[in-house]
Amino acid sequence: MEGGEREEKRRVVVIGGGVAGALLAKNVQFNSDLVLIDPKEYFEIPWADLRAMVEPPFAEKILIKHTDYLTNAAIVTSRAIGVTETEVLTDGGRSVPYDFLVIATGHADPVARSRNDRIEQFREENEKIKSSSSILIIGGGPTGVELAGEIATDYPGKKVTLVHKGSRLLEYIGPKASVKALKWLKEKNVEVLFQQTVDLESISDGQKEFKTSAGKSVTADCHFVCIGRPLASSWLKETILGKSLDEHGRLMVDEKLRVNGQKNIFAIGDITNIKELKQGYLAQAHATLVAKNLKLIMKGVKETNLAAYKAGSAIAIVSLGRKSAVAQFPFATISGRVPGMIKSKDLFAARTRKTMGVDP
Ligand SMILES: Cc1cc2nc3c(=O)[nH]c(=O)nc-3n(C[C@H](O)[C@H](O)[C@H](O)COP(=O)(O)OP(=O)(O)OC[C@H]3O[C@@H](n4cnc5c(N)ncnc54)[C@H](O)[C@@H]3O)c2cc1C
Repeated sequence: MEGGEREEKRRVVVIGGGVAGALLAKNVQFNSDLVLIDPKEYFEIPWADLRAMVEPPFAEKILIKHTDYLTNAAIVTSRAIGVTETEVLTDGGRSVPYDFLVIATGHADPVARSRNDRIEQFREENEKIKSSSSILIIGGGPTGVELAGEIATDYPGKKVTLVHKGSRLLEYIGPKASVKALKWLKEKNVEVLFQQTVDLESISDGQKEFKTSAGKSVTADCHFVCIGRPLASSWLKETILGKSLDEHGRLMVDEKLRVNGQKNIFAIGDITNIKELKQGYLAQAHATLVAKNLKLIMKGVKETNLAAYKAGSAIAIVSLGRKSAVAQFPFATISGRVPGMIKSKDLFAARTRKTMGVDP
């Protein structure tokens, strides 16, 4: 405040209430006139999802209503469909003006709008697992491997088959992690079929016989599609930011995480083109840095005094059921109970809730 006059707060709009956007919004809510735009009414801890499929009450922990951690913000429950130099357009027909914009739309995931409906989805998925004696998982990335691990641990009597189009599991990290994850899954009697796909277009509801591209027949009472989710950036193509997308659909940013060519538009999380593993803890680091810089900018601090982002190292932990995991660190890849103690017991749910300022 200056001269007894109320300081006018700047309008910060955050698009995307996932790992990065939710944390940034939480961190700037008392320093700005904040609006969060997200198609769902809650923040979901994505790396804990697969536990909620085998243990539905766990969903209560991993779905946090935006209103629980944003007590000083406006929340627009819509999808952003456009951006101009001054405002964001939503599919609900609103235009939301901004002074500073942060894009954090990560991956496109068509999940339920309400928290209760999302909890119900987890219950339905669990019923599907419980009532099946054989299960087909399509995709051997982190989602497919972690789901296979959860089912093999909690329902050891079920026959699980994982079909993967690549020649190794977990291709986003090193081959040592792939070998260790495969060994663990095989020990749990999960059958893994490499270098073949299942034609998703041809699958119908209730189908129990599946043919892979290699001609192998798989019998399964139910199936789960765990192929990588596309980036949620196609909506930007026809906007002022279209030219800032690289050939993979990622937003190109500078070291302050500002979208190339823009003064007041930032991007954080998986949607950025930063050369590092796309991981939630790094998305949180982006959010923390941009929140800090935004506060400084709004105070009038000089550009040269803003913090710069340094790409993170290639650390990733993939859980294998409730006790084991495979972890890649910069100098070693380990598996078993030790990395399991770091992640697999509660999949960072309590820690993430604490970070978001809600009861662990
Ligand atoms: C199985 C699995 C396990 C993982 N384990 C770990 C782990 O152990 N540790 C770790 O650090 N990372 C982990 N990750 C990675 C982590 O989940 C991602 O890096 C992280 O979610 C990225 O955060 P984000 O905010 O960029 O995007 P997201 O979390 O994808 O959030 C994007 C948000 O944007 C919203 N959105 C999308 N489009 C629009 C639109 N047009 N308008 C408005 N809102 C929109 C979405 O609804 C969502 O809320 C794991 C990922 C998977 C799949």
